[in-house]
Amino acid sequence: MASNKILLVEDEPDIREMLIFSLTRAGFIVDSAETAEDALNRLFETAPPALIVIDWMLPGMQGVDLAKRLRDDSLTSETPIIMLTARGEEGDKLKGFEAGIDDYITKPFSPKELIARIRALLRRSGLPTKNQLAAGELLLDLRSHELTINGDAVVLGPTEFRLLEFMLSHAGRTFNRSQLLDHVWGRSAYVEERTVDVHILRLRKALKPSGMDSSVQTVRGVGYRFLSNS
Ligand code: CA
Repeated sequence: MASNKILLVEDEPDIREMLIFSLTRAGFIVDSAETAEDALNRLFETAPPALIVIDWMLPGMQGVDLAKRLRDDSLTSETPIIMLTARGEEGDKLKGFEAGIDDYITKPFSPKELIARIRALLRRSGLPTKNQLAAGELLLDLRSHELTINGDAVVLGPTEFRLLEFMLSHAGRTFNRSQLLDHVWGRSAYVEERTVDVHILRLRKALKPSGMDSSVQTVRGVGYRFLSNS
């Protein structure tokens, strides 16, 4: 999961383009889909997003049915969902919350309002709402994709960066290899579990000069976790 990535599912080109523009300017990385089917394909091709914005009225599968599907999938069961709708009807609202959505916004709305709701939900779900992740002297800049430790730049490969980002945004939690593959590589990636070990080794090697490599811990018989030792 990329902690500042948002998946936007909206079939109306004008609204989609406007939201991509506003969300990108607010510091988010936006992945967009025009249909629910398209969104489902995209979701499992790459690292899952931190939050999903879904338009209610979509061609094909409806937004509310997409929300239900996402709730039932272990990979996205906890991902915050905001629904966009043109209708402010109470019945729809209830149907949406029953499907497991977290928030609901009626069109027309300002991008500012949507961004405020997104930030509030990300805060509530404990995910970083800033463009940086930090642990002790380690600072990961999610916009420039740079890692610095004690102010010194540390070069990481793109996979090591995503791996560190994911582990750091869930610091203290242990993940097995299959969970790391799903969240960092994407579920439909054709990668073997030992690939995770290879990238953990590379990550530790990059962190070694600073002594932060010991924060990337092996939990015997389970997997890996990031635990700040400072
Ligand atoms: Ca629509």
